[in-house]
Amino acid sequence: MEKAYHTQMEAARMGIVTPELEIVAKKENRTTAELLPLVASGKVVIPANPRHKGLSPSGVGSMLKTKINVNLGVSRDCKDYDVEMKKVLSAVEMGAEAIMDLSSHGNTQPFRRKLCSECPAMIGTVPVYDSVIHYQRDLATLTAQDFIDVVRLHAEDGVDFVTLHCGITRKTIEQIRNHKRKMNIVSRGGSLVFAWMSMTGNENPFYEYYDEILEICREHDVTISLGDACRPGCLADATDVCQIEELVRLGELTKRAWAKDVQVMVEGPGHVPLDQIAANMKVQQTICQGAPFYVLGPLVTDIAPGYDHITAAIGGAVAAASGAAFLCYVTPAEHLALPNVEDVKQGIIASRIAAHAADIAKGIPGARDWDDRMADARRALDWDAQWAEAIDPETAKAIRADRAPEDDHSDTCSMCGKFCAVRSMNKALAGEYIDIL
Ligand code: SF4
Repeated sequence: MEKAYHTQMEAARMGIVTPELEIVAKKENRTTAELLPLVASGKVVIPANPRHKGLSPSGVGSMLKTKINVNLGVSRDCKDYDVEMKKVLSAVEMGAEAIMDLSSHGNTQPFRRKLCSECPAMIGTVPVYDSVIHYQRDLATLTAQDFIDVVRLHAEDGVDFVTLHCGITRKTIEQIRNHKRKMNIVSRGGSLVFAWMSMTGNENPFYEYYDEILEICREHDVTISLGDACRPGCLADATDVCQIEELVRLGELTKRAWAKDVQVMVEGPGHVPLDQIAANMKVQQTICQGAPFYVLGPLVTDIAPGYDHITAAIGGAVAAASGAAFLCYVTPAEHLALPNVEDVKQGIIASRIAAHAADIAKGIPGARDWDDRMADARRALDWDAQWAEAIDPETAKAIRADRAPEDDHSDTCSMCGKFCAVRSMNKALAGEYIDIL
C-alpha cells in the first residue's frame, strides 16, 4: 500500500505519527504530541530515507539531545574500505548518531550501499565530492544535470541526508575576489562548486536547479543539509560579509524547501572566536527560522594542530548550549591527515563531551542524571560504578591500573593515597577513626 506521505515533515503536517517519529519520541523522553509540531514546522528533522534499512532514527533539533556526526570515507592516499568500516562500527558503538561518507576515491557506491543497508546511524553524503569520481571526468566537463543525477543516485542508494552547497552564487565569486579573506573558501564541497562556476562561467547548479533537487529529496525523504561554502577557515574570516551573505541565502532556501515539505538542516562555521559563537547561533536561528543548525566545530583558535578535537569541543559546547543541534566531530588529525581509528575515537569522545555539556546547560531531560550517578560513585569510592558511568571506561581503567595504589588502601587512588579527601570525609561523617600515616 502506498504511504499517505512522502516526508517526515509532510506526515507531521498531516498529523500522522510515523513509526520513526514514535522511536524518536521514546529516545528523547518526549511525547509524540510534543514532537509533531516541531517536525511540522521544521525545528526538528528526522532524517530517515525509507530505503535505509536497519536505521535507528534520530531527531535533530535544538530542544533535543545534541547529536554528533562522524566523517569517514576513503581518499586517494588511504583507500582501505575495511578500515573505514571498522571506524564506522566503532563510531556507532561510541555513540555517534550520524556517519557522513566523504569517500573521494574509487567506486564509492558499494560502500555507500553497505552503510545504508547495515548501519543503524543516519547516513549523510556530499554528492558533489562523488560527482568527479562517479563520472571519472574532470570537474570542468561535468554538466549541471550530471551533479543532479548524482544527488538522485545517492537518494536511491538510501542516504538520509545530503550536504548541498546551494548558497553560493556567481555573486559570491566576485565577493571572494573583492573581500580578500585570509583563507578564501575552506569547504571542500564549496571549493569544488566555486571552481566549477569559475571554469564554466555557469551559475551554481545546486542553486539554479534547486526545485529539481527538492523534488528528488521530497520523493525519497532525503533531508537537505545546506552546506556553508563560505564557512570561516580561520578566526580572521569569522562572521564576515561572505559568511553572512551566504547565510541569508540559506535562510531563503530553507523556506523554499519547507514549502515542499522537504526537511532541512543548516550548516555553520567553521573557525569562530569564542566570544562570537553565541551571536552566530542567534543570527542563524533568526535568519533560518529555527531550522536545526549543524556546526563544524566551531574551532575557537587556529594554533593547535594535533589538538583540534579540543579546540572544536570547546566551541561545540558553547554552540550547542546556544542553540546548535548537531555537532560534526573534529579529530586530532584535522588539518593534517585522514584520521586513523585512534583519531576517530578521540574525536568522538571530545564531541560527545561537548554535546553532553551543552545538554546539561540546555536542561535536556535526564542529561544531568548521568553526572549525578558519577558523583555518587565517586563519593562512595566505588570504582566499578565509576567505570559504568565513564564516557570512555577503557581509558579510565587503564590509567588507574597503570598507577595503582601500592598498599591495601586501594579504595583511594595514587593521587593522594591516605590523604584522599573523599575517604577522610566519608570516615569523619561516619564517626570513624581516620588513619593518615
Ligand atoms: S585519592 Fe585524591 S584524587 Fe584519588 S579519589 Fe581520593 S581525593 Fe580523588
